[in-house]
Amino acid sequence: MRLILLGPPGVGKGTQAKILVEQLGIPQLSTGDILRNAIANKTAMGLAAKEIMDRGDLVSDEVVNGIVSERIDQPDCAKGFILDGFPRTVPQADALATMLTQKGIALNAVVEITADADTLVSRVANRAKESGGARADDSAEVIRKRLDVYKELTEPLVAYYRQRGMLKTVDGMAPVEEVTAAIRRALGA
Ligand code: AMP
Repeated sequence: MRLILLGPPGVGKGTQAKILVEQLGIPQLSTGDILRNAIANKTAMGLAAKEIMDRGDLVSDEVVNGIVSERIDQPDCAKGFILDGFPRTVPQADALATMLTQKGIALNAVVEITADADTLVSRVANRAKESGGARADDSAEVIRKRLDVYKELTEPLVAYYRQRGMLKTVDGMAPVEEVTAAIRRALGA
């Protein structure tokens, strides 16, 4: 099963991805996690990405496309994977389509998780409190910026994948277990 979880910051993509990893036995591929790791390890990529991430902007397509292409080639992705936080722009979605064709594999589905804007802001604010400030991009200002970036650059992917007949939409306002169940029904998995 190869799938994309699509949705705004705070909608629960990461939470759902972690549950689906356990239930479906395929890895989560989070570009955000990989970038945060690179920052923690002070790699050149991490150093270049930090400032961009801290203000809530997107890291370049070139960097994230490279991350994803390399990660998909790892043996644990052979049975499938859950893309969480990628693609985030139409050019990234085009690059993903090209790289999957080159690798001779195809996506099964794109699951859009939805929630209203107020809920998202309060969920991300809660995450910031619970993580004790572990994520520099969870401050109120940066949350708003990330939501704006989502609307402008990422939301067009909803139409993109709908036009390609791949989109399933799930209500992310329901309790966590219900959202998981709805995703699995949508996937027939
Ligand atoms: P996330 O953990 O998915 O919320 O991502 C945190 C931050 O990492 C984003 O605000 C971006 O700065 C960066 N990032 C993660 N994934 C991508 C991506 N696919 N394209 C560009 N930037 C990304």
